[in-house]
Amino acid sequence: MKVVMAQKILRANEQVARENRERLKHLPTVNLISSPGAGKTTLLERTIQALRGEVNVGVIEGDIYTTRDAERIAGQGAAVVQVNTAGLCHLDANMVGRALDQLDLAGLDLLFIENVGNLVCPAEFDLGEDYKVALLSVAEGGDKPVKYPLVFRESQAVVINKSDLLAYTDFDINKVQEEIRTINPDILIFVTSAATGEGTEGWYAWLREIVRKKRSATG
Ligand code: MG
Ligand code: ZN
Repeated sequence: MKVVMAQKILRANEQVARENRERLKHLPTVNLISSPGAGKTTLLERTIQALRGEVNVGVIEGDIYTTRDAERIAGQGAAVVQVNTAGLCHLDANMVGRALDQLDLAGLDLLFIENVGNLVCPAEFDLGEDYKVALLSVAEGGDKPVKYPLVFRESQAVVINKSDLLAYTDFDINKVQEEIRTINPDILIFVTSAATGEGTEGWYAWLREIVRKKRSATG
């Protein structure tokens, strides 16, 4: 019974995700997924700064109750729409569709969706994005990919963040990268510190590339 309900919900979500994807056909869209506190908002702040004047970034900011992250993004001067899920632990395609109504999509070059901090069910809900990107922080321990493989399987890239803390943890960066590649051999891996900026150039280069790719594909 429970399984049937879940399938129904996911099927309805698929339909709306297709509609979102159609609306986003000119706009590269990245769905950022991580545990709470991995540094999604800090990485977005730094990314908006780094690409300013070159790539016009918009953000849909998912949060269970607060507007704190959205205020930080607005502080960078980027277009931001806050979505409060009122207790729900993931964004779904309907919430994103309503957020798209509030954005000037034609004025943007790149759209981020900061999902609710949770490594489990956000991976199951297609929002209409082009790319899922998983964030994993050095501070939270290296066993996450093995414990929560779905998000790493579904993602096109992973950002291992807080690299400035590597020396203070037992996080084995080589082993974790190996385990991620066992789950998803094609995944891109960026090792960054959103706090210091270390390693972020490769991440920006990939973002520039996905913007260029979609522009040349859709004219
Ligand atoms: Mg955040
Ligand atoms: Zn959920």
